[in-house]
Amino acid sequence: MNSLILLFVSAGYLCLLFVIADIAERRSRTGRSLVNNPYIYSLSLAVYCTAWTFYGSVGRAAEHGVQFLTVYIGPTLTAPLWWIILRKIIRICKQQRITNIADFISARYGKSRGLGVFVTVLCLVGIIPYISIQIKAISGSLSLLSGSPDAYDRSFFLTDPAFYTTLLLGIFTILFGTRTLEATERHEGMVTAIAFESLVKLVAFVALGVFVTFGLFDGPASIFSKAIQLPALKEQLTFGPGHTTGDWFWNCLMSMAAVLFLPRQFQVAVVENVDERHLDRAIWLFPLYLFVINLFVLPLAFGGHILLADLPIHADSYVLMLPVQYGQKGLALLAYIGGFSAATGMIIVETIALSVMVSNNVVMPLVIGRPSWQSRVGTGSFVINTRRITILVFLLMAYVYYRAVSHHFSLVSVGLISFAAVAQFLPAVIGGLFWKGGNLPGARLGLWAGSLVWFYTLVLPTLVPALLPAELLTDGPLGIGWLRPQNLFGLNTLEPIAHGMFWSLLANLIGYLWGSANWPQSSIEYNQAILFVDIFKLSRALDNSVVWRGKVLIADLRSLLTTFFGPERANRAILRYAPDESSGQKSLYADAQLVTYTERVLAGAIGTASARTLVASVAKEEPILVDEMIRILKSSQELILVNKELKRKSAELERTTRQLSEANERLKAADMHKDDFLSTVTHEIRTPITSIRALTEIVHDTPDMDPDARQHFLGTVIKESERLTRLINQVLDLERIESGRYQLSTERLYLPELVTEAVDVVGPLATEKAIPIRVANHTEPSDSVWGDRDRLMEVIVNLLSNAIKYSDRAAGPITITTHTDAGALVLTVQDKGIGIDLAHQELIFEKFYQTHAVRQTEKGSSRSAKSGRVLKSSGLGLAITRRIIHLHRGTITLESKLGEGSCFTVRLPLAPEGAVAYEKQ
Ligand code: ADP
Repeated sequence: MNSLILLFVSAGYLCLLFVIADIAERRSRTGRSLVNNPYIYSLSLAVYCTAWTFYGSVGRAAEHGVQFLTVYIGPTLTAPLWWIILRKIIRICKQQRITNIADFISARYGKSRGLGVFVTVLCLVGIIPYISIQIKAISGSLSLLSGSPDAYDRSFFLTDPAFYTTLLLGIFTILFGTRTLEATERHEGMVTAIAFESLVKLVAFVALGVFVTFGLFDGPASIFSKAIQLPALKEQLTFGPGHTTGDWFWNCLMSMAAVLFLPRQFQVAVVENVDERHLDRAIWLFPLYLFVINLFVLPLAFGGHILLADLPIHADSYVLMLPVQYGQKGLALLAYIGGFSAATGMIIVETIALSVMVSNNVVMPLVIGRPSWQSRVGTGSFVINTRRITILVFLLMAYVYYRAVSHHFSLVSVGLISFAAVAQFLPAVIGGLFWKGGNLPGARLGLWAGSLVWFYTLVLPTLVPALLPAELLTDGPLGIGWLRPQNLFGLNTLEPIAHGMFWSLLANLIGYLWGSANWPQSSIEYNQAILFVDIFKLSRALDNSVVWRGKVLIADLRSLLTTFFGPERANRAILRYAPDESSGQKSLYADAQLVTYTERVLAGAIGTASARTLVASVAKEEPILVDEMIRILKSSQELILVNKELKRKSAELERTTRQLSEANERLKAADMHKDDFLSTVTHEIRTPITSIRALTEIVHDTPDMDPDARQHFLGTVIKESERLTRLINQVLDLERIESGRYQLSTERLYLPELVTEAVDVVGPLATEKAIPIRVANHTEPSDSVWGDRDRLMEVIVNLLSNAIKYSDRAAGPITITTHTDAGALVLTVQDKGIGIDLAHQELIFEKFYQTHAVRQTEKGSSRSAKSGRVLKSSGLGLAITRRIIHLHRGTITLESKLGEGSCFTVRLPLAPEGAVAYEKQ
């Protein structure tokens, strides 16, 4: 294919991106954002897949088999963790207007400038080579397709198409990355274009995979069965020697870090995020994308190996060479575009992210730190121009690196070394997110230690054939064996990348923990630590809290805002926070909210550290009140606590009120019972008195009365007086028990004896009602209790007579049993009578209580059972019974069902055996 055509196609493709980006940008300005949806967000995350994926995965698979997968397994495994980690990072960045990973780390550790610079430099060193391999991929694919391999590598740069492609990319990036100075640093156009590119590379790769698998072979099975016959490939299909679990682990861990911390990933995942909720979908969409794009890697790698083994080409080129060799020009072009989009996507986002990083963390702090420079250059256009220049400079650096160095390496190794570089952010970032104790000295120490080891174990070896002697790797520096960069301290079970990851992260982590443990934390660091770790708890409080106690002229703030964002936006901000400006009564000084706001928007444009310096420079600042801040945070936390306490108290109050009203209800009920009782008692007393009086009057007035009749009348008078006496005695008993004046005269008692006596007493009543009584005794004569004979007798009689009284005529038998159970003597009285409604079961033990239904039956029976005076009810029987049982330290319980009968159970403690002396008491 003619290289000129290819260049045109590439330029055309870039123009298409430009149009897409432009449309998106326009729509975002009219409020119909394209980016505000989870699909675009997930696709933009796929900027993770670079030319390295597109060409390099196949190359790596052909050389090392399935190990290429670690780069995708890592992110897939961590995706669910994004809900915890990424969401937190996004929230923090939105809150603090953080726009890149360097700023993130610097802000967490006390807005330290030095740390920001360090992270930026590490990113640059790690990533410029990575950009250069994208250029290499573009240039390589150009030369392959135009049929002149190697020609471009050696050509003068002005005749090198890769040079022009790089320039074009630079222009494109500048156009879309640095249009205006945005406080949020979001680029909707760019994100849409990147999402589009992700689609293109996916479609291209899958199309190619389908062509090779089903066009050149008969499906995946045929490729694999052929591959397994080649000894070189057979090994790749297994986890054979060289791929230890350790290798897998470290490679996965590394890519987990990369997918979050590579500057371009941070840019699309955090900075460009419009809505946290997009994460919900991205958590599975992004892994799905990785899965699909990897589906055909092995078939392509093996297919390429089988079909193109004779050609003098690297496995990285299989993707392009397969369609070329089989005359599929269209497909070859599609493959080229796919690879081109993978490369350009990476270059565009990565350079923008790096340029923001450099301008916000290196250039601006430098400029703003010098008041004399500041007045000259401290404007918005300066910031933008800085970024434009850095973008061009990085691209040129990458190009130079590509021309000078990168032909020594394959795509994969350089990419992995970059990954390992950003993995160094792991301890500082993860520690910073979840551990308030992590501090600046720790972060600094960890990062230094980690990056030094990274450089020593991973970067130095790449310089070996070209710049350093081979003995460095084989014998170690100065012949010191245990310092060999790829076998540090004699570790030789891991392949070089995993080996480097292991030592660098170990050094890094130790440094981080040791530094954090041994140096104190400054108060601003402590503040930031709280703001980061507790972000979810503080989110709301922070929006309203303001940490400022200085004096700033509104005019100064206005001019600051104007220089960076132009007069219109400056005005809007001022009006929002200082509304008095527009009305007559101007206040000269800005209030705290305006100051905080200004600092925050500036932070978005020039980095947190610079924004602080800048605002501080126009303010007569009383030292930033760290204590104040902590106080505000604390008070917001306290508020939450107080709130909780209030809720708890009101719940308690509610409960108490409920209890009170329940008690009140009970009282009312008891009161009613008392009234009932009084009328009952009055009635009960009046009835015998009336009849006594009537009968004695008759006897008195009739001296010549028949002696039999007189005898009968006087007998009735005696019974009525007995009844009166009993009623009065009951009331008195109750009163004495309740006032605690009641004395038991206790002795050792064998309860079954009492039962027999009681049955004798109530026997006639039972016979009269034709109710049999059964007694069952399961105790030994030694099972005795201490008790008052008369009182206990009264109890049993009362229970028995109730059982008879509340059973219908000829109802089932009444059963009395006695047995022992767990140190107690248990007496049960069971009847087949009318039973007691559940609602009354507790109440019947109250004094004066009679169930309504009973009173009805009583009325009916009182006339018929004249002789059954014992049965006459007062509602006091059970009340007294229970009190007597309690006096004996026993319990009485009831089980009953309306219409089926009742069973009263009395438990009395057994008397200790042979306590004769005690008996005398
Ligand atoms: P009373 O002198 O009215 O029998 P008690 O205190 O002995 O008074 O009993 C209170 C109430 O409990 C009775 O009015 C009756 O409604 C109910 N009761 C007691 N024992 C029984 C029982 N075995 N079966 C059904 N109801 C009973």
